[in-house]
Amino acid sequence: MHQPNFNRRDFLNTSVSAGVVAGLAQGGYFSASTQANENRKLGVALVGLGSLSTNQIAPAFQKSARCKLAAIVTGTPEKEKSWSDKYGIGRDHIYNYNSFDKLASDDSVDLVYIVLPNSMHAEYTIRAAKAGKHVLCEKPMANSAADCRDMISACQAANRKLAIGYRCQYEPHHLKCMEMSRSKELGAIKMIEAGFAFKIGDPKQWRLNKKLAGGGALMDVGVYALQACRHLTGEEPAVITAQETKTDAVKFAEVDESITWLMQFPSGVLAYCSTSYNFNGLNRFNAFTENGFVRMDPAFSYSGNRMETSKGKVEFDAPDQFANEMDAFAKCILENKPSKVSGEEGLKDLLAVEAIYKSIETRTSVKVVA
Ligand code: NAD
Repeated sequence: MHQPNFNRRDFLNTSVSAGVVAGLAQGGYFSASTQANENRKLGVALVGLGSLSTNQIAPAFQKSARCKLAAIVTGTPEKEKSWSDKYGIGRDHIYNYNSFDKLASDDSVDLVYIVLPNSMHAEYTIRAAKAGKHVLCEKPMANSAADCRDMISACQAANRKLAIGYRCQYEPHHLKCMEMSRSKELGAIKMIEAGFAFKIGDPKQWRLNKKLAGGGALMDVGVYALQACRHLTGEEPAVITAQETKTDAVKFAEVDESITWLMQFPSGVLAYCSTSYNFNGLNRFNAFTENGFVRMDPAFSYSGNRMETSKGKVEFDAPDQFANEMDAFAKCILENKPSKVSGEEGLKDLLAVEAIYKSIETRTSVKVVA
């Protein structure tokens, strides 16, 4: 059956989201009054200059309306020179993990962006807050819900803002899917299928080390599927049943290779999710509604994501997710408002993650307790 194309213009012509998406597309998150009050870009100290920082975040500064790279923190001396040459960062704004706390007296830095292995997120968030800086911390927020709570408390005590790097919350197709779910345009959601997997390489990398990563595929890419289900329903999972399997017990000796889990939400919606570190090709969600469906495939990529509903395809220009995420956080800082991807939001994911691991361990269904 032919479905009419639901295109960008249709969307912009309808509903409150037009403003949201127009703002995203222009990289413009800032009201006229904010711009009048605060024209300077906020300075960011980037902590951990690995793959994500090098290939996504550093280039995103060129597209950011409100953030600039002001300082770097690295344990690798060669990177000090290459980053300083490439991005013009002065000697006084280059730190290592021992000198990190000296950021406290670096007035060019407003916020610290933590892009380190998962186990280091809590320590560096807390140290950054104590240094008087706002914190943007990559996902997963930490290795445990207890660490998440410590991070939230430290930022509250220092009166600093905390946001988690949930870039999909700044991706227009994701926002449109959430909006259609909320408005029940295609009826209420009945069931969701979501998953994200990739085939991981180097067996020696930190992602396969339990102490550094906290877990395997679930902690890394599984959280995208979890987030999608939480935001599509607008609810927190009540009960979770999970199962893990390993087809390579050597490579995945310390962390999970593949997990499927079932979440029951208070409204009765069921979501069945999967994640793996051992195959490619799973990168999607599909929400089945009373009168149709809303889906994305691919759903969680840096670019090239595609959305389709039972009414047809939905296409937006997709701006840089990292630039938008940083600009949105800068807006929260400038306007003294909480981030929609706050520490509390990161904690909710970790509560569900812990319930998934507990269900695997106990072979029972587990209630998610806040
Ligand atoms: P990476 O391995 O490429 O980089 C990690 C960096 O941390 C390196 O520069 C490394 O030198 C440094 N480091 C400091 N101490 C270390 C230690 N003890 N062991 C290993 N490395 C150490 O990793 P990455 O892909 O850049 O991921 C970093 C963080 O970003 C992770 O939390 C990951 O989940 C997150 N991430 C988020 C996204 C996203 O789309 N939001 C994508 C990729 C990674």
